[in-house]
Amino acid sequence: MKLILLGAPGAGKGTVAKMLTAIDGSVQISTGDILRGEVQAGSDLGKQAEEFMKKGDLVPDSLIMGIMEKRLQQPDCAKGFLLDGFPRTIPQAEALKELLAKLSIKLDMVVSIDVPRDVILDRLTTRRTCSNSDCQAIYNVKSQPPKQEGICDKCGSPVIQRDDETVEAISHRLETYNQKTAPLVGFYEKEGLLKSITGTSSDVVVNAIKSELGL
Ligand code: AMP
Repeated sequence: MKLILLGAPGAGKGTVAKMLTAIDGSVQISTGDILRGEVQAGSDLGKQAEEFMKKGDLVPDSLIMGIMEKRLQQPDCAKGFLLDGFPRTIPQAEALKELLAKLSIKLDMVVSIDVPRDVILDRLTTRRTCSNSDCQAIYNVKSQPPKQEGICDKCGSPVIQRDDETVEAISHRLETYNQKTAPLVGFYEKEGLLKSITGTSSDVVVNAIKSELGL
């Protein structure tokens, strides 16, 4: 399947994407995960992105499009992909449209996951992430803590609170989402690709996507 997952930070895009990859081998492509990996590796790209990310600002469109142009041409995308956290601005959506046309790739659907703001705030402040950039497993101190406190179940690395998940950075990310990313809902509605799903449970969202795709 070839999907875009839209939704505010904390709407569950990453969890839903991971569940969908198990269905048909489509790959999850999270620009946030890629950027955090680059920051950890200390690459040029990571150095350019780091300050924007810490503040909860968007990284410039040109950097993101450079990443995505390469990523979408890697062989593992042939079976399908779930775009998680990309596109985030109208210029990114327009550039993606051109890129997909150039690569002769057709999207199946754009899913907007709608979750109430209070649920999002609660999820983000209690979310913890594996610090290993190759793992980045997600936990929640309330609903899904690691078996051993502070240690990733999957790879044994420390589980941390992201720099951009302080209350201040979270409010800023949500504001940025409303200003820059929410308009993509209208963009994809016009393209005839949008499916909005309201749901705080990832299972419900995944089932709705499956039935929409006839799976
Ligand atoms: P995420 O894990 O998707 O919440 O992304 C974490 C941070 O990475 C965001 O707050 C942005 O600073 C940056 N980022 C991720 N994806 C994008 C994108 N498509 N465009 C611009 N910045 C991005």
